[in-house]
Amino acid sequence: MQIQPPSGFSASLELDGLPVLVCGAGPAALSAIRGLLDSGAVVTVVASDVGATVADLAARGLLVIRRRPVAPDDFRGVALVVPVTGLAERDRTIAAAARDQGIPAVSPAPAMTTSTQKGGSVILVGGGPGDPGLLTVAGLEAIKEADVIVCDRLAPLAALQHARQESMIIEVAKIPRGESTSQERINQLLIEHASDGKTVVRLKGGDPFVFGRGGEEWQACSAAGLPVTVIPGVTSATAGPALAGVPLTHRELTQGFTVISGHAAPGDPTSTLNWQALATANTTLVIMMGVATLPDITSELIRHGLAADTPAMTVADAAMPSQQSVRGTLADIAALTKEADIRPPAITVVGAVAGFSPTP
Ligand code: SAH
Repeated sequence: MQIQPPSGFSASLELDGLPVLVCGAGPAALSAIRGLLDSGAVVTVVASDVGATVADLAARGLLVIRRRPVAPDDFRGVALVVPVTGLAERDRTIAAAARDQGIPAVSPAPAMTTSTQKGGSVILVGGGPGDPGLLTVAGLEAIKEADVIVCDRLAPLAALQHARQESMIIEVAKIPRGESTSQERINQLLIEHASDGKTVVRLKGGDPFVFGRGGEEWQACSAAGLPVTVIPGVTSATAGPALAGVPLTHRELTQGFTVISGHAAPGDPTSTLNWQALATANTTLVIMMGVATLPDITSELIRHGLAADTPAMTVADAAMPSQQSVRGTLADIAALTKEADIRPPAITVVGAVAGFSPTP
């Protein structure tokens, strides 16, 4: 089953397989780049300053970056040029240079709406697993109203096209084992802008309260005397497996599911999980942030008595065009995940439901 294609570029242009040059790699470029990737375009980004989110997309092989200013040569062989430097004058110059060479250039027009909210506040918005179609209606409304949007790498970035032209987009990437903005700095940004009378949307991937540190942000903003609203999101913990064909519960297979973070391996002094209890709980186990630790986690579960032939499945990039999944057993899922070169974000499901097929 396919979900609806994401909104944005794909709604208006047929870009599948077409080479597109994006000029700009900062916050102003995020929504265009995500929209283009979601539409299947083959994206090259040219920019001197590359933000963490775009650098991460390049590291995952989803686009190519040329780290330098735009040069006339860049337009060669390109079907479309998208200037999104964040500087209107610069964008116009790039578009004119592209058109001089007979290549169409479009800058996505930000939505025109007016902010109605006065007095600063923070809205914690869960953006769903990645496809803007899985963002809630309330979440989209919040994006449209926001003066400031503080977004994560895993948020549905294509939805930023609905932000007001004047809104400020701040990227606070948290890349596993890579570049990151500290939680203290994120809290500080939310507080600073909301204290300045702005409506601040904190846009996150999935649900803010499922390994999203939304609780900490809520407390920090409340302590600063700021009103906080929460708009829950569709968590990847349930949506990821569902999109890969795995229902987390099934009357005939299991009476529950347990969601854990695998970021600390068993035996790691910071791990607080009871692996014996997890191995014997007889519920579906959903492991988030566990790509690097999967070999240790699966061996530990087997050591505590969970059958090695228990079905298991890993899904990566759920709800994105790059979604991929592998199925196996508890014994071999770590090796299969590695063989498939699966990288975060990914979720592994262990339990009878991981062997589910819709055709009985
Ligand atoms: N708050 C988020 C989770 C943040 S923790 C939510 O509710 O979904 C980050 C982890 O979430 C990743 O390491 C991965 O395990 C999982 N994840 C987030 N988005 C994902 C996606 N699109 N596909 C697969 N896993 C995803």
